[in-house]
Parts: sequence; structure tokens; C-alpha cells
Amino acid sequence: MIRFYNARVLTMAKGTEIQQNAEVWTDGDKISFVGVPTRQQLDEAVFERQTDLKGDLIMPGLKNAHTHSAMTFLRSYADDLPLQDWLFKQVFPMEAKLNEDRIYHLTKLAILEYLTCGCTAAFDMYFFRDGYVRACVESGFRSVMCGSVSGEESRLCELEDEIKKYNSTGSGLISYMLGIHAEYTCSKGLIKGLGELARKYKAPTAMHNSETQKEVDECISRYGMTPTQLFESVGAFDFGGTTFHNVYLTLEDMDIFRRRKVVCVHCPASNLKLASGIAPVAEMEKMGIEIALGTDGPASNNALDMFREMYLMTTLQKVSCKDASACRPQTVLKAVTVGGARAMCLDECDIIAPGKQADLVVIDLNKPNMQPLNNIPANIVYSADKTNVRLTMCAGKVLYENGEFFVGDDVHRIYANANRIINEMKNEV
Ligand SMILES: [Zn+2]
Repeated sequence: MIRFYNARVLTMAKGTEIQQNAEVWTDGDKISFVGVPTRQQLDEAVFERQTDLKGDLIMPGLKNAHTHSAMTFLRSYADDLPLQDWLFKQVFPMEAKLNEDRIYHLTKLAILEYLTCGCTAAFDMYFFRDGYVRACVESGFRSVMCGSVSGEESRLCELEDEIKKYNSTGSGLISYMLGIHAEYTCSKGLIKGLGELARKYKAPTAMHNSETQKEVDECISRYGMTPTQLFESVGAFDFGGTTFHNVYLTLEDMDIFRRRKVVCVHCPASNLKLASGIAPVAEMEKMGIEIALGTDGPASNNALDMFREMYLMTTLQKVSCKDASACRPQTVLKAVTVGGARAMCLDECDIIAPGKQADLVVIDLNKPNMQPLNNIPANIVYSADKTNVRLTMCAGKVLYENGEFFVGDDVHRIYANANRIINEMKNEV
């Protein structure tokens, strides 16, 4: 067992209430104890490691609920372009040069970055899954993948193959959700087929949704309804779902999310950088819609930093609502922990409680930007950054601590491989 003591604990079980002078114990991949132990409990426990946190804070690991991890190869490669040009002229041609091995190495780079910001799970939409899974499992990092097919109906069989294969890998770190890339990249047959698969497997589905006004307008002219309404009409949300971006929504769209228990993943940095807009998060929150936070891929962000997303989430709502009380720290912290877990169907990873998965982060409060301790949740959202992440634990294993990585590979070799791969790709015709 591992024992963290002299800790403050933000369990996220009851809002942002913090337990003082508490302990968190982990046993294998699970949390075994939270609170103040009795003398007898301490005497009986056998610990392989005991760490005095000196008042630092333990909270649930942050969840990146929308990303394309291996897109690290496009970081700062094609910036300053509108979404359609960026996607069709820069991203798709380079993606055509990817393969299993490249995805493996590029994903390893993304995992390092996730760990530095306290992220313990990523909801990844990409391809060459075997390379991705190998990188995650070897590193000890948790991931849920979602379907990313586009084009014609014939690709539905890939989704069926993937849901069977990746929900039975034998690794507790890996799972899979049905999904398609987006309405604007899929045929009507493929979208209808997604709804049929949702019903067949009684499963939620995931997709990019209403990221730009153009996407919504074109969908309305094609089908006479918004993308959200189209997905609902084919049954894709019959068992819930998770949608990414949601910048341009009607009241009816939001009502569908509320009724269907669809989790909306907000990607503020990507929406800003691609000039897409600001999602109506405060309005969604008022309607009782579950919200999660994601970075989107490192080609459109360009960081994989949940602290930056948290800060942007709250400040963008304040300015768009012209209301400084909009989107408070508790809303943001819920989105980046519990909301993310709901988005990925990771109910065992949402809060710090006995029996839950030991996916947690230690935030260093003994730093100038975290003092004084007037309001710790506000400090985390408004003034913390990833340099305050002292330790990241995933499924009971410490993968990052005090700037060092424990992912079974050499960090400089991971950087060298990523640079080698992008140079090879640039030179391939
Ligand atoms: Zn995306």
C-alpha cells in the first residue's frame, strides 16, 4: 500500500469541500482509505511507501475529455489557418502518412505532457489504435478511445470490430466508445448506421459537434436540422453520448443534451485558436447539462494542458456573459474531474473515495502562486498552472513525480523519435 499523509484532500464527492490533515491510501490500482485513520488502522497497515505531503492537496486526476493524442507531430506545424483550410489542406494530407509505429511514438510524447498537467485519462479520437494502445499500456496511462470513422456506410464494420476488440483487451486501462468524426465528414448512411449500432450495443456514442457556424448551416441545408438534432433523430443518443466542441447550439440542441444525458466536452483553447467561437457553457450548466473539458489535438491548441483549459473555461464565460460570477471554480473543477469521467464512462475514476481507481494528482500548495490559502479551489482554477503538479498517479502507479517520469522509457528517446518521425514525414511525397 502507498500512504500519503499530512494532506489536504479535495475528494470532489461533495462539491469543493476540502478535508484537512487527512490521508489517502492506495492498494494496488484502487484507493483503500481516505480520511483520518485510527491508531489501530495505522498499526495494522503495511506500507511500501509513505509520503508526507506537508499540507499539499490530493485531488482526482484531471480528465482530458477530447484529444487526438498522436497529433503531437503537427504541433506548431500548421498554425494561423481557419478550420476548414487547416483540416483539409494541412492536417488530412499529413495524416495520410501515419502508420502504427509512428502513432506509438507520437502518443508517448503526448502521454508525457498529460502527466505533467495532472491528467490521468484521455478520451482519444484517432486511428491506428494498436499503436496507441501499446503506448498507453506500456506507459501505464489510462485511455478511452472513440470511433473516428468518416466517409461511407461501409466503414461501420470497423466500429463493430473496434468496440469488440478494445473493450476486451484485458487491460483495465483501455476502453472504447462508438463514434464518428463529425456530421460534415460522414455520409447519411454512416450517421444512420451509428444510431443502429448505438441501439444494438445499448451504448453511448461520441463525435465532433457544431464546432463552427458553417458546419451547422450546411447541416441544416442538407438535412433541415442541426447536427445535434440529426444525431438524435437516428438514435445515436438513445443510450447517452459525448459531443465535442458544441460552440453553436440552439435551445432545442441543449434540450436534447439534457434529456439524453449527453455530456458536452468544452474545448476552449482550440475554439479560440481556430477562431471558432465560445461555447455557451454557462447556459448549458444552467440547464443541468454535464460538462467536461478537453484540449482537442496538439495541432489546434497547441498544448495538452488542462490548467490552461480550466482558466479559459471560466474567463471566457465571464466575458461572453458579461458576468464576473459566471462559471465559478466549482463548476470548472467538476468539469475537469467528474464531468470528464462521465464523458468517458469511467465511473470508477471520478472522485477520491475508497474502492475507486487510484487516479489522483498532488497539487503543490507550497508555491508562491498558491499562497495565501484563502480559497484553494479558486487558487487551482485562477492562479495554478502545471508547474504546481507535484505527482500524477494512474491506477495506483506513480507515473510522474517532481519533474521525473516513470513510464518505462527514456524521455529524450521519446523526443528524438517524435522529431525523427516528423522529419521523415515532411520529406515523403
Ligand atoms: Zn477534435
